[in-house]
Amino acid sequence: QGKTYQFKLVLLGESAVGKSSLVTRFVKDHFDEYRESTIGAAFLAQTITLDDSTTVKFEIWDTAGQERYKSLAPMYYRGASCAVVVYDITQTSSLDKAKSWVDELHRQADPDIVIALCGNKTDLEARRAIDTKAAQEYADEAGLLFFETSAKTAHNVNELFTAIAKRMPLE
Ligand code: GDP
Ligand code: MG
Repeated sequence: QGKTYQFKLVLLGESAVGKSSLVTRFVKDHFDEYRESTIGAAFLAQTITLDDSTTVKFEIWDTAGQERYKSLAPMYYRGASCAVVVYDITQTSSLDKAKSWVDELHRQADPDIVIALCGNKTDLEARRAIDTKAAQEYADEAGLLFFETSAKTAHNVNELFTAIAKRMPLE
């Protein structure tokens, strides 16, 4: 008989980096080119089967990146076991914003929170502005998991969530 472990996961990051698209890819395995921006936050759930005896269920809070919703963020990361902090590899400012979210999580969230840094939109390689190596080094220093993904092509999206699942305390 298998066991299911449940964790609250929050997505944070600048507006338009692809947070909602990553969740849609992970939960529904599809991508909308023209999706409406998130208002407040949206909730979705998805399970990952790690092996015959272990299933991880993520309760996902997809937050709105706009500045006017920033004061709501603690409501979503409070009590979260894991966070995905997303930037867009074509937008330099989005990595700075991601770093400020990581700092905020380190100050205010659960001290055991598992954080993954996610550089999204790898399908736009020709417009890349953020070097993989620099982001990886930052992630290593800050103790974060690190993945580059594309919600559009599905590159590394399941890998990202699976790596988080494997990092969770399963006992
Ligand atoms: P959010 O504000 O962070 O939730 O971002 P959205 O998921 O709403 O995406 C913002 C825009 O980026 C939309 O036009 C998406 O279609 C687009 N987008 C999201 N992920 C990708 C991706 O991996 N590749 C490309 N090319 N566009 C993406
Ligand atoms: Mg969104």
